[in-house]
Amino acid sequence: MPQPHVVVVPFPGSGNINPALQLAQALRHHGVFVTFVATEHNLRRAQQAAATEGAVSGREGFRIETIPDGLVDADRDQQDYDLGLSKATTHGQCTAPLRELVARLRGGATPDVPPVTCVLPTALMSFALEVARELGVPSMVLWTSSAAALMCHMRLRELRERGYLPLKDDSCLTNGYLETTIIDWIPGMPPISLGDVSSFVRTTDPDDFGLWFGDTESNNCTKAGALIINTFDALEPDVLAALRAEYPRIYTVGPLGSLLRRHHDEEDDAGGGSLDLSLWKHDTECLAWLDAQAPGSVVYANFGSLTVVTTAQLAEFAWGLAETGRPFLWVIREDIVAGVVSGSAAALPPAFQAETATRGRVAMWCPQERVLRHRAVGCFLTHNGWNSTCECLAAGVPMVCWPVFADQFTVCEYACEVWGVGRRLDAEVRREQVAAHVGEVMESVEVRRSAARWKAVAEEAAGAGGSSHENLLGVVEALGVSSLNSE
Ligand code: UDP
Repeated sequence: MPQPHVVVVPFPGSGNINPALQLAQALRHHGVFVTFVATEHNLRRAQQAAATEGAVSGREGFRIETIPDGLVDADRDQQDYDLGLSKATTHGQCTAPLRELVARLRGGATPDVPPVTCVLPTALMSFALEVARELGVPSMVLWTSSAAALMCHMRLRELRERGYLPLKDDSCLTNGYLETTIIDWIPGMPPISLGDVSSFVRTTDPDDFGLWFGDTESNNCTKAGALIINTFDALEPDVLAALRAEYPRIYTVGPLGSLLRRHHDEEDDAGGGSLDLSLWKHDTECLAWLDAQAPGSVVYANFGSLTVVTTAQLAEFAWGLAETGRPFLWVIREDIVAGVVSGSAAALPPAFQAETATRGRVAMWCPQERVLRHRAVGCFLTHNGWNSTCECLAAGVPMVCWPVFADQFTVCEYACEVWGVGRRLDAEVRREQVAAHVGEVMESVEVRRSAARWKAVAEEAAGAGGSSHENLLGVVEALGVSSLNSE
């Protein structure tokens, strides 16, 4: 049997690139040949950000190819950059280049490259499933959020049919309607407020792009030959059972970071050092700073790759962190405050900087998984991006949640109400609440016990014989047989 060859096509943002790279590396470890498709723009960024040249280069059994992202530089400076990317991919700007690439690799004419046996895009890239179908190549898809978030987004259609969406008028956005309207009929899910189904419900426009995109892209996942989810069975048993009842070919392989950690040392030895396609340069010195802090003492704050805040919100978070009286590591992306030309950290109140200089550390981007697993970290102030949440669960760290966009509301609801590992902040940030919630989760025996329990369960899932490990082997096996036909 020829070596299976999978073409991995992540949506071009960190929240999809990172788990796609983790999955690709895990597959490579098990003998699958990988072509990883980056956008030209992101590959350039990753090369600039890389600590070593080797981190961004291909290696045995792993090649990197590029396609354009369909944007011009002016689009990339927009606040809704990710929506711009979504529009570009949806409007077909990436389709022809990907088709050409897969067609070229499919035939096996490239020396030392086995013929393509599967196209594997992440969520939000269903044009790649279409390319696979046209070319007669089997496909799988990696959903990069939780199973509950997938179920919620799949139900946007029914919410529309039942008259919940679009919202009747703008007052629904502010009069408590989103919080008090309870949706209790989503299969496998506890009752959830309309506002926690997705940020895409926040619209009165029947043609809203986000609403359409969330609905279409989640439902398109079922067009793939198989669906891979970065979650683990014990974390979301009910909603996974409901999804599997509708669509049986689901492989849960999370937390991917935990799964991969088991192979890392061997991978590094195999050549080239570890692969890293980070779009920002990692500040690794913050790890040395953490080494000097007491176990469980540090508040780690990071809102991921896309969140944008106002100067006023930044100041509330700053004073909230100061009020905790605890050491903190705060990652402030250069562009987290829109329009601050000199970098967002410059927007911090000077008095705050003076007051916290000896116990606070601000970084622009960090090696997050290593930070979360550091023994000094005792709390994560997070936006509940799924990767961040999953990495946090795997590290056994309690969280304070401030969801902003897309699936983050659903993830926050589960973190606080189902898994018992977090406390939610109000949308309107207030320093007292930031400080109070941080203190509460760090001191609560109950929250800390839940966090430790989920860490153990995640480790079990990713370990030998665990559900995620076995499912990864199932994916490898499925890639080796050619019965994976798309719809
Ligand atoms: N990340 C990182 N360093 C940082 C911030 C984030 O390496 O300083 C990584 C994080 O580990 C995760 C991804 O970037 O893998 C962010 O994905 P997530 O789904 O949490 O949020 P998004 O950025 O998509 O909103």
